[in-house]
Amino acid sequence: MTFSDQNVDVGGLDDRRGRGGGLAIGGGGVGIVGLLIYLLVNFVGGGSGGDPTQLVPPGQVQGTGTGESTAELSKRCNTSGALDKYDDCYLIKVYNEINETWTADFARRGATYEKPRLGFYEQAVQTGCGNASSQVGPFYCPPDQEIYIDIGFLKQLQDQFGAQGRFAEAYIIAHEAGHHLQTLLGIEAKVRAAQQRDASAQNDLSVSLELQADCFAGAWSKLSDQRGNVSVSPAQLAEAQNAAAAVGDDRIQQKTQGRVDPESFTHGTAAQRKQWFTTGYQTGDVNGCSTFQGQVAPAA
Ligand SMILES: [Zn+2]
Repeated sequence: MTFSDQNVDVGGLDDRRGRGGGLAIGGGGVGIVGLLIYLLVNFVGGGSGGDPTQLVPPGQVQGTGTGESTAELSKRCNTSGALDKYDDCYLIKVYNEINETWTADFARRGATYEKPRLGFYEQAVQTGCGNASSQVGPFYCPPDQEIYIDIGFLKQLQDQFGAQGRFAEAYIIAHEAGHHLQTLLGIEAKVRAAQQRDASAQNDLSVSLELQADCFAGAWSKLSDQRGNVSVSPAQLAEAQNAAAAVGDDRIQQKTQGRVDPESFTHGTAAQRKQWFTTGYQTGDVNGCSTFQGQVAPAA
């Protein structure tokens, strides 16, 4: 992905790196909608709890912000070549472009977009959704309207699940930002209400919610490309499609437990995730992301 400008705006960043994670209990709290939330129970092994900081060594990340002030971070990210060199700068830049594109798209439809915050942390984090460890993968917490990400662990996940590449990272952030859109648009609240009404529909609703976030990520890629903010090559598009497939329930279950249990799917299959990302990319329209039985939201 090529950016039309190299400016990195650190506004909206919640940088908690190098502060220690506090007393993480390893539990993904209620209301966390993560891309790779399975890993909490599967990747770690049986979900038996324990101290997550004992299980996963911190990743070797270039440009970790430990000890760095926001002003210093801003300076580093705005030096020549920073976007290629530093993962954190690249992710902040993607976050900037996501906000810019959705601000324009909401305005075009007479709505107001409020940007989420982007939280960087290491190993564990306390959020409005509860305490979470890195093992939940990148996630969005609706009450905080914040995307939380441990960059070191993200890189490990990308290696583990074969979702490498810079545009794969952009897809992941755009997927979490898709959950933010669902909060702004009231979709997430409707899903929660529907899940409370009918427990047997919980997983299906979760799958629809996740596939829609993939579709929103695809729509962002298209809209951003159209605006000229970024240019996405066919190879990069394929990278994002591959990443969406790599985190399909079937692939993750096969990899982590050696078998696939469709009843327990909460994010959708590899084929579905790739398909919905692609649908979003083709239409560039949030209203085309009708993953709830042909609708954009479940019946209220
Ligand atoms: Zn998700």
